Amino acid sequence: MDIKKIYMDADALLEGHFKLSSANHSQFYLQSAKVLEDPKTAKTLAVALAKEIQASGLQIDTVCAPALGGLIAGFALATALDVRSIFAERVDGEMNIRRGFEIKKGERVLMCEDIITTGGSAMEAARVVESLGGVIVGVAALANRGFCKRENSDITTKANCKLPQDIPFFALEDFTFEIYSPDECPLCKDGSEAIKPGSRGN
Ligand code: ZN
Repeated sequence: MDIKKIYMDADALLEGHFKLSSANHSQFYLQSAKVLEDPKTAKTLAVALAKEIQASGLQIDTVCAPALGGLIAGFALATALDVRSIFAERVDGEMNIRRGFEIKKGERVLMCEDIITTGGSAMEAARVVESLGGVIVGVAALANRGFCKRENSDITTKANCKLPQDIPFFALEDFTFEIYSPDECPLCKDGSEAIKPGSRGN
């Protein structure tokens, strides 16, 4: 399956010259939620990810997603794995599990995001799951921004990856692309102007 093409076709992976919220520039921009706006595509991706997880033999009781980004991916993956789906959410900046969701002692929980950058939010939510007695058995995401090493990929883990090295991380594809400071951006040097993603029809 050509994951990058699926993202491109859904306008979830944009190519151009972008000004990121960090003020840095990039040739690519990931609009992760866009790939999930068609439920059929969401299902296709989640089923592919579930197959990879099942092939590893990992036993999972529950998928837990950090809101908001992970919600749809988490639900779709839980559906494909036929396990329970819960989510964690931020309240006054702190990750929490609310809404009556309970976690049993020793419950095997897979954290799920739409995309893993450094994995910070996923691990914050994971700490809450652990504090309630759950065991984090793995992390999953549809896409990997390339800072953490996923199963079946030969990219190396970068220093800013926050995922633990002793549990598996599953994702469908690595989306590694260069980020440039504006004064070193080769696209600017070529004379084009960086735009904010979302403007001018992007
Ligand atoms: Zn630039």
